[in-house]
This record gives sequence, C-alpha cells and structure tokens, in this order.
Amino acid sequence: MRSALGLMLASVVASVVITAVWFWTVGRHAHVSTPQTIAAAPAKLLPPSPAANPARSGAPRDEIETTGSIAEKLAAAPLVQAKPACANPDALGVARVVEIDTTGGPGFGFEHFKQLDFLTDKEVVLTFDDGPWPNNTPAVLKALADECTRAVFFPIGKHATFHPEILKQVAAAGHTIGAHTWSHANLNSKKMTEQLAKDEIEKGYSAVRLALGAAPAPFFRFPELQHGPAAMAYLGTRNIAIFSCDLDSFDFRAKSAEQIVATVMTKLDKQGKGIILMHDFQKHTAEAMPTLLRRLKAGGYKVVQMKARTTVQTLPEYDEALIKEIKLPVASTRPVGSVVQTVSQ
Ligand SMILES: [Zn+2]
Repeated sequence: MRSALGLMLASVVASVVITAVWFWTVGRHAHVSTPQTIAAAPAKLLPPSPAANPARSGAPRDEIETTGSIAEKLAAAPLVQAKPACANPDALGVARVVEIDTTGGPGFGFEHFKQLDFLTDKEVVLTFDDGPWPNNTPAVLKALADECTRAVFFPIGKHATFHPEILKQVAAAGHTIGAHTWSHANLNSKKMTEQLAKDEIEKGYSAVRLALGAAPAPFFRFPELQHGPAAMAYLGTRNIAIFSCDLDSFDFRAKSAEQIVATVMTKLDKQGKGIILMHDFQKHTAEAMPTLLRRLKAGGYKVVQMKARTTVQTLPEYDEALIKEIKLPVASTRPVGSVVQTVSQ
C-alpha cells in the first residue's frame, strides 16, 4: 500500500516536472522567435549588427557589411524605430555596403587614384557635394528614398552651419556624410598656405560635426578636385580618406536635368562602373535624380554604399573656435519666452 502510494506520488511529481520543462522550453522559444519574425522585413534593408559582421572573422573586405553610420548613432534606434521595409518592389536599392579603413588616408576615384579598384562591373557609388541646401538637398533625399538607395554626401562646412536641420535629414536617412572644407576654398591655389589648408579642412569637419551633433566619416573631397600636395599629406596624417571620382557628371554646368542624365549614362555605359560625382546643391541635379536612378536600375547598375570603419576625430580647438564664431552676435542664452513677450494682441 505504502509503495503504491509512493509510486503514485512519484508519477505525479514526474508529470509536473515534464510539463514545467515543456512550458519553459516552448515559452522561451516563442519569446525568442516572435521578435525575429517582426524584425525580418526591416532586416532586409538594414545591415547586420556588428556582432554578425563577417569583417571580425576575417571575411574578404569587399563583402563587408556593417552598421555604424551617423544616422544609426543619432537615432540609437531600438527595434520599434527601425525603418520600414522598402515600399518600392522595383527599387534600385543598395547591392553592397563596404566599410573603409581610412588609416593613412587612402584615395578613391580613378580620375586621380588608381590603387584601390574595389568596384566590380556595373557597380556605382553615388556621391553628392556642396550641400546641404534648401529644396535641392531634400529633393535628392526624396529621390534616393523612393529608390531605397544610399549615397555619400560631402557637405560644405558653412552650408552645414546654415542648414543643420537638412544635414540631419541626410544622416537620418542612413547616408554616409564626409566633409568638403569650410568655405569651398581651392586648396591647391598659389595663395593657399599649409596653415590655411589645415584650417579649411578642420573647420569643415568641426562644422559638420556641430550641425549633426555627431562626428562624420573621415571621408574628404577636395573642392574642384584640386588636390594640394601638402593638404593631401596632412589628410594622411589625420587618417582621412580622399575622394576623387571615376565619373564627373558636370552637373554644375548642365543646362537641364536631361543633360545630366545623358552625361552620366553615356560615361557609365563606356566605363562600366564607378564613383559618380554630383551636387545636391544644384537644382538640375535634384530634378535629374528620379530619372537617373530609374535609368541606373534599367541598365543593370548596382549601388554600393561606402561607409567608414571609424568617425573623424575633430580637433577641440576648431570645435571651440567655431562655436564661439557662430554664437558671436548673440551673447544671451535666455530662452525666447523670457526675451520676447506678447503684451498686446
Ligand atoms: Zn564642391
């Protein structure tokens, strides 16, 4: 009798344990798998997390995909804030994201630098200079967003301080942001000194950083592609990559959007691939973008986004000088409500 009771008790205990283990296993599994399902759609658009980065396990450099854009840092987005999946099923998209190690200041763009031939046939990199600028930059951003594709922007420092909110939109859309000097000075002119060139470069980066609230990529494009030798050596010491181009759209002197599309497509069909130089500052460029991106897709071209492994380290003396300069006319930091009050309406 005693042993029968013991047997019964044992079997009850055993079934409770089995049920508990089953619930625990299924429960845990369900907990893990549910967010994965939700995340599946945006994950196609977003690069994998750094933990899954093949770069850390020695994969070939040109297959590296990575996070770490300014936009992601600004947003520091939890899963719920992830961008929605691309709404355009026929979008140009981004075929590949490459991460650049800017140590020593590597040069890109065959017009001036021929060592790093990383693009394969039909691959293009979209680059835009001289922004941010009202209307034109947002129009370029919209065209890129409509095609779910990404580019590299080289803003002018002064323009970044004029329109920081537009530059923030560029970052928020996930594009890569470098710099293009403070005032678009020719760093290769006879009047240019080493100190002035350094000031143009550093103040440009500090301005972009100030506008974004985060450090940009250590990517630099010389105004007018005028590569001053001393400035190039300086950029090398700062571990900043130099961007020329493979293909100049000459959009700044185009008389129409159609002319820009024709120039780019003709050159591309001849060269087969390349870093394309354009200007988000230019109205015709903004107008040309929807058609140009469609033509790229139709022509079988694929967009490669270039990102940097690290962000640029701005120099504190330039950061501080710039903040003082920008705030110079206004000594008061009182909020508007305490300065301006409606007394009659
Ligand atoms: Zn420029």
